[in-house]
Amino acid sequence: MAGFLSFASEFSAATVDTRARALYYRVPHEIRQPVCAAAPWMILSNVPAPVLCAAPCDLADQPGVKGFMFFNTLKEEKTVERTFAIIKPDAFAAGHAGRILTCIYEAGFTVVGMKKIWLSEVQAGGFYHVHRDRPFFADLTAFMSSGPCVALVLEAPGAIARWRERMGATDPGTAAAGTLRREFGTSIGCNALHGSDAPDTAAFEIGYFFSGMELL
Ligand code: GDP
Repeated sequence: MAGFLSFASEFSAATVDTRARALYYRVPHEIRQPVCAAAPWMILSNVPAPVLCAAPCDLADQPGVKGFMFFNTLKEEKTVERTFAIIKPDAFAAGHAGRILTCIYEAGFTVVGMKKIWLSEVQAGGFYHVHRDRPFFADLTAFMSSGPCVALVLEAPGAIARWRERMGATDPGTAAAGTLRREFGTSIGCNALHGSDAPDTAAFEIGYFFSGMELL
């Protein structure tokens, strides 16, 4: 792994780890020929792009059996997508909206939709309908309708996962250091921010708050 990191120094360790798992598979013996005997890394011309180099390793499912770990040395091309976000009433009331928006821009998102809105309890319930049978549903809808919030549509490559990562875990108390919920949330209920968790929920949530003409 250390050799690969120096070979493709533009990658972060996290990117390499993710990619290594995703591209881990066995290959036929005939392409296990290093083109550079001085290093365990080899450029492969006979495997489909974008797999460009590989390193010998033990197979995870067959200990002791040798295989190859494949890596893509190109930067990952993630699809540009849209996600839905809310600066929730607690964060808005505390005056954190400006700092949160700065973080959003600094993280590389394009804000394609933004509006300040004060939800009714019924509207909040419609938005969070998937949680209607959960014990915290009444608290959640009361909180979400307790004051104005800012609804946002954010666009970026891999926007859904990227925004979830930037927000952090649902409970600010367990959210990782440096995440926005850790910084601005105060409890699992009052956790400052919302972010869609999948493409289908993003589509529903964007449509719940914005018409197509409002997304610029
Ligand atoms: P999220 O996707 O991280 O926002 O988390 P969920 O979809 O599981 O929950 C939606 C929202 O419900 C959370 O962001 C919290 O505001 C709220 N919530 C979740 N669990 C609890 C809880 O145990 N108590 C309370 N009061 N609110 C909760």
